[in-house]
Amino acid sequence: NESAPIRGGNVVPTNNLEAFWMPFSANRQFKEAPRMFIGAKDMHYTTADGRQVLDGTAGLWCVNAGHCRPKITEAIAKQAAELDYAPAFQMGHPKAFELASRLAALAPTGLDHVFFTNSGSESVETALKIALAYHRVKGEGARFRLIGRERGYHGVNFGGISVGGIVGNRKMFGTLLTGVDHMRHTHDPVRNPYSDGEAEHGVELAEDLSRIATLHDPSTIAAVIVEPVAGSTGVLPPPKGYLKRLREICDQHGILLIFDEVITGYGRMGAAFAADHFGVTPDIIVSAKGLSNGVIPMGAVFVRDTIYEAFMQGPEHMIEFAHGYTYSGNPIASAAALATLDTYREEGLFERAKALTPVWADAIQSLKGTRHVIDIRTTGLIGAVELEPIPGQPTKRAFSAFLKAYEKGLLIRTTGDIIALSPPLIISEDQIGEIVDTLKMVLNDVE
Ligand code: PLP
Repeated sequence: NESAPIRGGNVVPTNNLEAFWMPFSANRQFKEAPRMFIGAKDMHYTTADGRQVLDGTAGLWCVNAGHCRPKITEAIAKQAAELDYAPAFQMGHPKAFELASRLAALAPTGLDHVFFTNSGSESVETALKIALAYHRVKGEGARFRLIGRERGYHGVNFGGISVGGIVGNRKMFGTLLTGVDHMRHTHDPVRNPYSDGEAEHGVELAEDLSRIATLHDPSTIAAVIVEPVAGSTGVLPPPKGYLKRLREICDQHGILLIFDEVITGYGRMGAAFAADHFGVTPDIIVSAKGLSNGVIPMGAVFVRDTIYEAFMQGPEHMIEFAHGYTYSGNPIASAAALATLDTYREEGLFERAKALTPVWADAIQSLKGTRHVIDIRTTGLIGAVELEPIPGQPTKRAFSAFLKAYEKGLLIRTTGDIIALSPPLIISEDQIGEIVDTLKMVLNDVE
């Protein structure tokens, strides 16, 4: 039958919600009552039913400059028409080099080389592979262990979930990488209740790295990876002095220190990187999200000169590091990231985040005493409001708060029974007030 529809051909399919298996989502709940965004501008989303929703989470911690910023959208359109794609292997294009140079200048001193990826997860895998390969090219191949931390989130690929410390992400796949161990997490709401900035207590938890190093012998450990502020497990700022102590222990044993700055990078802490904010420089920084303002997938891994140089020793015609992605340094992503960096600089957004930090902290901490709230943590332009779970129904109260907030015109994010907040850095003081007022109403409404 010549008129029969061709599969994948020119027949317009119906908009069947079942076809899309949504990531990290309660698919059945969503498909019962879809929440669709059809537009965005600056601090707001527009919903399919025509409402404005204030973005309290910068999308997924990534839209640091706000939505649909002209400089970025124009750069993307222009690049797409000029050079859409160039092979990433053995070929180049100027914007990737320009971007790498700009990023190297932005990064802490000494982290002068940039490897491009397409996401936070890919950046994590790249960093772990660089760490293992680095020791190997230096003749220390016995360093095969990777150390993470409980409650760490390092994306969803095999390396990341192995060093990560979230049971739900690990339990089915987390054993595929051998030689991984975990330090204790630093969450201690009993000693550090309602904390703002670095937690007062807990520096001694860094000694867990010494314990692990002693257990396995330090000469078997390649690298330690931590988020300077753990984000996805509920915003856990480091205890005072903790990161510095990790640095010292790593130096003592020749272990590489990796900061996963996928959330904290690009201004979220009121500095280019959390490394600057906390005054501790790791050997490798993992980044993504805010690098391209979330507009186009892109990640970047920063490495120390000594690491890069260690690879640049063999015959010159040989590929030094057998790793890379088809879209590493993609021209359109590079153009988007360059325009993003311009926007951050021209509008002074990192400085703005810094100036807003105390206003933000006061506002979010003012939710203390609101119904269901058992702890609050603030740092940079990040906040967490921890709710008492409904007995026997963990995550339900926070999820209800998420739905209610969306109904009332505010996008929040929840993890467990914790509300996580991370607005675009362009947020106004009035909009900070609006977040707090809406959350008060929401928490009074939910069971
Ligand atoms: N690392 C951290 C600290 C993150 O917060 C995330 C995402 O939230 C990732 C890695 C993974 O990034 P992506 O989702 O881009 O793969």
